[in-house]
Amino acid sequence: MSLLRFDAVKQGTSREPVKAVERKESVGIFFAEAVFDRKSMRQYLSNDSFTQLCQCIDSGEPIDYHLADAVASGMRLWAMDHGVTHYTHWFQPLTDGTAEKHDSFVSPDNNGGVIEEFSGKLLRQQEPDASSFPNGGLRNTFEARGYSAWDPSSPAFIIDDTLCIPTVFIAYTGEALDYKTPLLRSLEALNKEATRVAKYFYPNVKNCTTYLGWEQEYFLVDESLYVARPDLRLTGRTLMGHESAKNQQLDDHYFGAIPERVQEYMKDLETECYRMAIPVKTRHNEVAPNQFELAPVYEECNLANDHNVLLMSIMKRIARKHHFHLLLHEKPYMGVNGSGKHCNWSIGTNEGVNLFSPGKDSAENLRFVCFVAITLMSVYKNNGLLKASIASATNVHRLGGNEAPPSIISCFLGSEVSDILERFISSSYDEAIVRNAKKELSLGVGQIPELLLDNTDRNRTSPFAFTGNRFEFRAVGSSANCAAPMLALCTALAFQMKDFADSVDRSIAKGKSIQSALYDVIRDYLNESQPIHFDGNGYSKEWHEEAARRGLNIEKNVPLLFDAYTTSEAVKMFETLGVLTSHELQARNEVKWEVYVKKVQIESRVLGDLCLNHIIPVVTRYQTMLLDNAKKLQEVFGDTKEYEELSKGTKEMIRKVCRHLTAIYEMVEEMTECRKIANRIEDLRSRALEYEQKVFPYLDKIRYHVDHLELIVDDEIWPLPKYRELLFIH
Ligand code: ADP
Ligand code: MG
Repeated sequence: MSLLRFDAVKQGTSREPVKAVERKESVGIFFAEAVFDRKSMRQYLSNDSFTQLCQCIDSGEPIDYHLADAVASGMRLWAMDHGVTHYTHWFQPLTDGTAEKHDSFVSPDNNGGVIEEFSGKLLRQQEPDASSFPNGGLRNTFEARGYSAWDPSSPAFIIDDTLCIPTVFIAYTGEALDYKTPLLRSLEALNKEATRVAKYFYPNVKNCTTYLGWEQEYFLVDESLYVARPDLRLTGRTLMGHESAKNQQLDDHYFGAIPERVQEYMKDLETECYRMAIPVKTRHNEVAPNQFELAPVYEECNLANDHNVLLMSIMKRIARKHHFHLLLHEKPYMGVNGSGKHCNWSIGTNEGVNLFSPGKDSAENLRFVCFVAITLMSVYKNNGLLKASIASATNVHRLGGNEAPPSIISCFLGSEVSDILERFISSSYDEAIVRNAKKELSLGVGQIPELLLDNTDRNRTSPFAFTGNRFEFRAVGSSANCAAPMLALCTALAFQMKDFADSVDRSIAKGKSIQSALYDVIRDYLNESQPIHFDGNGYSKEWHEEAARRGLNIEKNVPLLFDAYTTSEAVKMFETLGVLTSHELQARNEVKWEVYVKKVQIESRVLGDLCLNHIIPVVTRYQTMLLDNAKKLQEVFGDTKEYEELSKGTKEMIRKVCRHLTAIYEMVEEMTECRKIANRIEDLRSRALEYEQKVFPYLDKIRYHVDHLELIVDDEIWPLPKYRELLFIH
């Protein structure tokens, strides 16, 4: 009897829900209570410091030592009033998750005692001993260390007894070692270029803000069952496990009643999110059993991203309290839906105009068409890069299935928008762009309804869809840091907007009217970017063929996809806008290849160990039972025809078991050999490619045999919790 599995099942099924902490006050009272937001700032800073700080945050101006000192001391008082003893610079290295090193506020006072202090210097900069974070060779550990620097645009917050200060993480040479630095640079670039384009329509626009509203999908699994699955624990996904007879066929989980234990988990999670000022809004079951989703109201992109990163760590912590384990892996279970993180994004002007909203009149319609054209063009030109930005060893299992965005980036627009764009292309400039009654430039080829939201046929098969007043990048993986896709996207958009504005300005300088200049460039963009526009079924086989014909990137090989970051076009784009240098891009790719190798290497090792230590011994025992059975039958019936007939089933089982066992054994050996060869390759890119081509395929090939054995072998002795247990116990 394999005790662990059955004990785990028993524990999982007999658990009572852990009651969520009920806050008596309304959300409005405790919202942001753990955040040093403007309300707390006003209370803990002098009037002068408060005004100056807000001004710096809003304008992005640097904060001088004087002000930093004042903010630090106010921040410390606020934190100590909330029971805080330590502080940390909180940053997002190029691994998953966040990093922090906690220091106490206490320092020696040079008189044998201690004082509690926190200076502006400590607020602004810290030198975490973080030499072992991946950096792709940017920071020679022996020479210079990295340092973290305060990002005042994202407010500090408290976790337990620690004040967490959002920071960027950079090498002394100024090169980015994290996600936040290039994200901030790309947002600044987009702000500048979007403002330039917006001014054609709204001459008084001063700046533009990029907004992000993520939707986070995740799985929960009972803690005991999780512990009994070494593959889940070590790799985040099940490397074996036959599909459950029932999984999601009936769609009875999707939007169904949330199980009580999960409901309590969600309540606690939401309370914690509100305390952290994460404006979560919706929660529901997802398609797969034990899969759920959480989404907030959208926020400024950098803040929204910090909130998502913070959320992922809060989710893990709260799950433990409820005896769940949180699975953020994109594909924890084969055969059921994987998890993504949809990135809804839009750009707004300081005057409150959403540039992707069709608006309420023909002038706004024209601005809308213009920004859609630019978006289509930038996604078209960078479809390979955008795919690279969401590619990983884990997301690869999810993309391209019949339940996740296809691994080809295309844009869905819906019939109404498509129709208007077609009319625009086929009209002359004085038909397409006219002056309305208020003498504003406006769209002459028909009206776009203001509220498209309910009209757009929500094509779930599109990785990049227009959804009424925003675009939704759906190919992002559930465990990803949204900064990776967002910084690629913002850079691509900024570059395209720059190109757009440069072209329009050039035409105007040559004496063209603004109408005809805008018309020419918009029409060129719409024409040229046509291949990226696809409203059909992204899951269909025909689309793959069609996409290849259209010249879209159809590559699926993850390590190879990363090359899109270092093509001469990409380097030029990132460098022109000051987002990342060629050296940084190369170094970041090295990190990606290294992470890819490590992930596949770990999965391969874990699978090998599980086969050798869990599966083969148990199956051999079962094989012996079958052999004993056949032998005893023969003892009773002798070498008769009756014996032949009665032992047929057992013998067939023996054959099957033997064949699967042999296959597993041989392939584990082969896979180990392949790993050894790959490990000897110096160059990281080549090693990653070798892993992708030689090691990776074994994971599925071996699994095939294990999963077949799971169907044959006596349930009583099968050592690992099965899918029906992992997926249906909550
Ligand atoms: P669905 O699952 O149907 O796509 P949800 O309501 O779950 O929709 O999620 C929509 C997400 O889009 C939310 O995070 C929301 O804040 C975000 N969102 C809505 N409008 C905008 C916008 N203009 N810009 C950016 N994000 C937006
Ligand atoms: Mg969505």
